[in-house]
Amino acid sequence: MKKEYYEVLGVGRTATKDEIKKAYRKLALQFHPDKNPDNKDAEDHFKDVNEAYEVLSNDDKRRRYDQFGHAGVGSSAASGGGQPGGGADLNDIFSAFNDMFSGRNRGGGGSPFGFEDAFGGGGGRRRASAGIPGTDLKIRLKLTLEEIAKGVEKTLKIKRQVTCKECNGSGSKSGATENCQTCHGSGEVRQVSKTMFGQFVNVAACPTCGGEGRLIKDRCTSCYGEGIKIGEVTVKVAVPSGVENGNYLTLRGQGNAGPRGGAAGDLIVVIEEIPHELFSRNGDDVIYNLAVSFPDLVLGTKVDVPTLDGAVKLTIPPSTQPETMLRIQGHGIGHLRGSSRGDQYVKVNVFVPKELSHQDKELLKEMKKSSGISPSAHNDKNAKGFFEKARDIFS
Ligand SMILES: [Zn+2]
Ligand SMILES: [Zn+2]
Repeated sequence: MKKEYYEVLGVGRTATKDEIKKAYRKLALQFHPDKNPDNKDAEDHFKDVNEAYEVLSNDDKRRRYDQFGHAGVGSSAASGGGQPGGGADLNDIFSAFNDMFSGRNRGGGGSPFGFEDAFGGGGGRRRASAGIPGTDLKIRLKLTLEEIAKGVEKTLKIKRQVTCKECNGSGSKSGATENCQTCHGSGEVRQVSKTMFGQFVNVAACPTCGGEGRLIKDRCTSCYGEGIKIGEVTVKVAVPSGVENGNYLTLRGQGNAGPRGGAAGDLIVVIEEIPHELFSRNGDDVIYNLAVSFPDLVLGTKVDVPTLDGAVKLTIPPSTQPETMLRIQGHGIGHLRGSSRGDQYVKVNVFVPKELSHQDKELLKEMKKSSGISPSAHNDKNAKGFFEKARDIFS
């Protein structure tokens, strides 16, 4: 059975047009598919609500419906049976809905308004008395590893929309406004259009005043009446230590100023780490590759090693093996939470020269004569063990 239209909207049979409209707005918003993704029940409800409103908001149809029921109002409405609005294209409903609620769309581009904005003030008609909200602004901030290690305060010069100083953001030189003649101050215009259901009343934001209901007199020549203009501002950002690529900081109200007195958007600062030429990062630790000569590895030595805080003396103990990681405590990156820092790891490797003087070559040949520097002198047993094992496997 098809549902009773007054029941669908939850109003009495004597409801006024305004009551019907209010009920419709509330329900359409509640069951709008954008708010109920993949919810078939909500979608059906949304269709029912639209169908009911389409009939009850039209004097002629409402009269016929009151008199004859569903049979009195159009074929698509009457033929529904178990599938209400079966012939209706959901997209048509959406476009009608969008016209009604997001009509502020002046240039045909994306409307910056959510439904909450369109409904703001409990159905109040002059919707934008507080101006239009400014948009968020996103910028990238490149930081060195040194800056990330200890945290840094940066002063940024950014271009953004700022409140026009000439008119204090009002858009008018003298601050004067006048009632919009197109919509007579209501901010809305009504258009009757034909849809699958028959006639449909679209209530859209007035194209002349953009829904504000008022027009600026004495338009400010500096901002062309927008109340905002592009300007350059300096913003201070305190970046804590330990941030990583892709982390972002949100600075409330530091984004673009809103046209004609609207609240400013946010400034979103996205962190980008500049790769360091000496260090690589592993969480809050840094890794440094150090090449040491063979004699130094064997005999041990002290070397100056760069850190994020300047050079530090590092002891290479005797008989240090290649690939050994030596730790310099507390010279890593400051933890995002807490005051301590990570460590620096020094990965020690053998330096193998590519070019040698005649004298160096002679010295190395001399060194080779010593049996003590060859692995066989130290690993004889292991080596034999290995060859014996290999024989076992392959024989
Ligand atoms: Zn208007
Ligand atoms: Zn201005």
